[in-house]
Amino acid sequence: MRNLGDALDDANLAGQDNGTPTSSHRTDEEPAYSIDVVCYDPENRDLPCPLCDGKGVYTLDVPLTDPRFGRFQRCPNHPVEDDREMHERLRRFGNLDGYRDKTFENFRVSHLGGSYTPINVTSLYNAKSIAEGYAEKPIGWLVYEGPYGSGKTHLAVAIANSRLELYGEQVIFITAPDLLDLLRATFGSESEASYDAYFERIRNVPLLVLDDLGVENPSGWAKEKLFQLLNFRHVNQLPTVVTTNTPFDDLDPRISSRMMQGEIVKHIRINAPDYRRVARTQSLDMRFNDLRLYQEMRFDTFEAESLDNDEKASLKTGLRMARTWAQEPQGWLCFLGDYGSGKTHLAASIANDLNERGKDVMFTTAPDLLDYLRQAFDPQSRSRFDKRFQDILGIPILVLDDLSLTNATSWSKEKLFQIIDYRYLSKRPTVFTTSETRQMIEEDSPRLATRLFDRRLCKWFDLDPVGSYVKRMKTQS
Ligand SMILES: [Zn+2]
Repeated sequence: MRNLGDALDDANLAGQDNGTPTSSHRTDEEPAYSIDVVCYDPENRDLPCPLCDGKGVYTLDVPLTDPRFGRFQRCPNHPVEDDREMHERLRRFGNLDGYRDKTFENFRVSHLGGSYTPINVTSLYNAKSIAEGYAEKPIGWLVYEGPYGSGKTHLAVAIANSRLELYGEQVIFITAPDLLDLLRATFGSESEASYDAYFERIRNVPLLVLDDLGVENPSGWAKEKLFQLLNFRHVNQLPTVVTTNTPFDDLDPRISSRMMQGEIVKHIRINAPDYRRVARTQSLDMRFNDLRLYQEMRFDTFEAESLDNDEKASLKTGLRMARTWAQEPQGWLCFLGDYGSGKTHLAASIANDLNERGKDVMFTTAPDLLDYLRQAFDPQSRSRFDKRFQDILGIPILVLDDLSLTNATSWSKEKLFQIIDYRYLSKRPTVFTTSETRQMIEEDSPRLATRLFDRRLCKWFDLDPVGSYVKRMKTQS
């Protein structure tokens, strides 16, 4: 980060009169083009360009009174996108040195074995096409909201790279915490002048990309600076891209209200999981974490209609509990119910909802989980099993469907107990469903029962006090 300050000093960003319609704020300094040949004869690439003598710029032969007198013009044989030297300067200025690999071309909207759901793919595709449109015509603000690793920074940087390379525009990419550090470092003492200069540059830069707004947790002074900066750009409608993973409610309300204002702000929510997590989950066997099989099971497809009022009320309560839990996963939630009571639908809805919000959730049935462990179990060589077991223990949010102990072997019971006990002790958010009664579980595994029936951690809900969900669906149709 220290480099940005130096870069701001070093970068000689003279106005380039290239006629490109950008919102560039121009200075009157002369461009410091290298005397080396940068522009070539289009007829013969080995020779310097005859129009500009290879300099890439030339002055027009106009009278002294002409406003263009003495000003450099960009040579038509040396288009902006070929001007490597300028790109490098702009990169240093914009803090984009380390980000040249983030482009629209290599932004992937579907990958990793198709483990993105169609909703993820659509969301990423939309987010990308909006970014491409903005890169062509940056008007107003673009606010990307999405979880860590969802690709919002990649898109924001791709916009910056594209403006820089195709239009020669000055852009600054900076994370909110780095921006505040920079301002703090330059504020006061002998560097007051440079503080003013930096602040001015960031305030006025033709395109500002502010990454990760909300993680900075600013003090009063920094909060004020950030507000001043964003307010200035908002009032003056200066092109600005903001990314955040912080709920708007948690941001400075003066800033979030500006990010909400529809006319100049386009707000895009990216529904995609952290791609690094997707890659990690892939290392777990997809057979036991395949949410795609359950992708139709969502809160809004859950039928809570019934002719029976008690049943209807019970299903609605279950749905409400599931939604509330998904909103902020804490503690344990257990749905009891016969086959077809709708418990799997609710559990999968929770997993789908969390997954689309980028939360680290795994959905699996208890039998699949045990199979997965059993396949790797070989008393002679424990390593593969241990790895799988550790992977499962490490799952931040687990939705475990169809927990059943009646026919479980003692090995299975032991493994389930170990997993559940670990989650109990570490208080990891977990959803269970079971078609067994409480009494059955207490008889089959008293140890497990003490964990599952601990009311301090686990909320129980019986979905099926009256009849079967499947039966009801059938009689309805
Ligand atoms: Zn030329």
